[in-house]
Amino acid sequence: NTNEMIIEFDSRSCNESFARVTVAAFCTQLNPTLEEMTDIKTAVSEAITNAIVHGYEGEIHKIRIECRIRDNEMEVGIIDRGRGIENVKKAMEPLFTTKPEQDRSGMGFAFMEAFMDEVTVDSAPGQGTQVWMKK
Ligand code: ATP
Ligand code: MG
Repeated sequence: NTNEMIIEFDSRSCNESFARVTVAAFCTQLNPTLEEMTDIKTAVSEAITNAIVHGYEGEIHKIRIECRIRDNEMEVGIIDRGRGIENVKKAMEPLFTTKPEQDRSGMGFAFMEAFMDEVTVDSAPGQGTQVWMKK
C-alpha cells in the first residue's frame, strides 16, 4: 500500500514554488501538522534550488521529483542530471559553498537535515544528484 507521485519540470526558478507546493499538497493525506508541512516545503525548496543553481548552473534541463507515502511516512527524491558533487560529505557540511560570490551561505543541506528525519545524497560528477529525504 504505497502511494506514489512523480513530476518532472524545467529547472526554472519560477517552477520552484509550484513544485514545493505540489509535494506539500500530496503529503496532506498524512494529516501533517502545520510545522511538519513547513519543514517539508523548506527542505524540498532547498533541494530544488540546488538542482537549479548548482546542478544545472542556470541551464534549463529537467528536474524530477518522486514522492512516496507508505504507512505514516513520506519519502521524497529531488533528482537532477547535472554536474554532480565531487565530495558529498564536504558539500553537506554547514557553511560549505562553492558559490560564495553568488551570495550562497552554504546552509541548504544543513536546513534539509534539520527539517527532515533522514537525508541521503547520491551524486557523481558528470552524472547528477539525487537527494532523498524522509519524514
Ligand atoms: P545556500 O543553500 O545556503 O544558498 P549552497 O547552495 O552553496 O548555499 P548547500 O545547499 O548546503 O549550500 O550546498 C552545498 C554545496 O553542495 C553547494 O555549494 C554545491 O557545491 C553543492 N551542491 C548542492 N546541491 C547540488 C546539486 N544538485 N548539484 C551539484 N552540486 C550541488
Ligand atoms: Mg543550497
